Amino acid sequence: MTRIAVLGSTNMDLVAYTARAPGRGETVTGREFRTIPGGKGANQAVAAARAGGEVMMIGAVGDDAYGTLLRDGLEHAGVDTDLLHTAEGPSGTAHIVVDDTGSNAIVVVPGANGVLTALGPGEIAAIAASELLLMQLELPLSAVVEGARAAHAQGVRTILTPSPVQPLTDELYDHIDLLVPNEHEAAELSGQDEPHAAAQILLRKVPEVIITLGAKGCLYAARGGEPVLFEAPSVTAVDTTGAGDTFVGALAVALGEGRPVAGAVAFASSAAALCVQKPGASTSMPYRSEIEAS
Ligand code: AMP
Repeated sequence: MTRIAVLGSTNMDLVAYTARAPGRGETVTGREFRTIPGGKGANQAVAAARAGGEVMMIGAVGDDAYGTLLRDGLEHAGVDTDLLHTAEGPSGTAHIVVDDTGSNAIVVVPGANGVLTALGPGEIAAIAASELLLMQLELPLSAVVEGARAAHAQGVRTILTPSPVQPLTDELYDHIDLLVPNEHEAAELSGQDEPHAAAQILLRKVPEVIITLGAKGCLYAARGGEPVLFEAPSVTAVDTTGAGDTFVGALAVALGEGRPVAGAVAFASSAAALCVQKPGASTSMPYRSEIEAS
């Protein structure tokens, strides 16, 4: 089994569904409310575990009821939570309003995720014992940089999802093997809207890039090679939440198993295509048997 460490966020998504989002100073009555375990780190961890990886989550939840639920959810998915710390105070939360057009407005309060500014010897050892390290940008950047550096010092392959997108330092880029932005993030980081052009710019910073392109699939580019466009399976999408995280989790498992890029991308694309056909994020992430059967 591929050993994967995920250094990332755990949030409880508090989602209100309403015909129309309220304006400033206004109150509207919503139709439905759901609490959904999320956070990009936790979502990638669940995706990788379901895709067949042996996954260790490095992060923090709060000492509130959400923290217990988030930890239980990860453990239920088979994710090792020994290094998911419980910090004093609230867990990370995302306050989401979804209106009838499907548009959303989100306030993320990092809570316990913001506490993890540095890594300890336990986290460094867990990263060193892994084959791959998955990171996103929902934890303090100091911890992300430290994790990436520790991974590289031990020859552990690093994959970064640059979300939420923000300018990155060369210090971080230097320790990233594979960058997996979506189209919007790739444009923000490179200053180029066209994915091929964006990939060329990003390859100055990292050796390999996969730009995910939603229903169009993804563009893979590596230094010194021709970029390759991989099409996504043609499916009817009902909810694309979590598609990118499913893609990365499954990709990591397949790469860790030694599959060549084309095979790993095919596996990841199948997983993500299954995810978009069901509502929800972590709830719609497929198991390995489903991915292999698709
Ligand atoms: P995105 O974050 O929207 O770029 O999506 C990540 C990955 O999920 C894509 O590279 C596809 O493999 C997959 N995906 C997203 N939307 C769809 C869709 N409508 N149909 C099939 N696959 C999709």
